[in-house]
Amino acid sequence: MRTPLEVVIGSCEAAAALLSELADGEGHGLRLARARLHVALCSRCAGVVAELDATIEALRGLGRARPDPHPELVPAVIERIRRERR
Ligand SMILES: [Zn+2]
Repeated sequence: MRTPLEVVIGSCEAAAALLSELADGEGHGLRLARARLHVALCSRCAGVVAELDATIEALRGLGRARPDPHPELVPAVIERIRRERR
């Protein structure tokens, strides 16, 4: 049986189904508004959304990261590959 709060803000399962749309920050409509309200009032789902946001932010950071170039290492790497092929 659903609690009165669940009737208003929907279930965790219903909110979870919309988490990726919520994380995108896009999307409109009553379903998403209800899911946002659910997350605002449900500590369990708020934790899931916070982790999802952190993961997305970490992945974006990976996309920006560029390894420092060390051109002086190239000859040594090539030499090592040659040795290991023998
Ligand atoms: Zn929930």
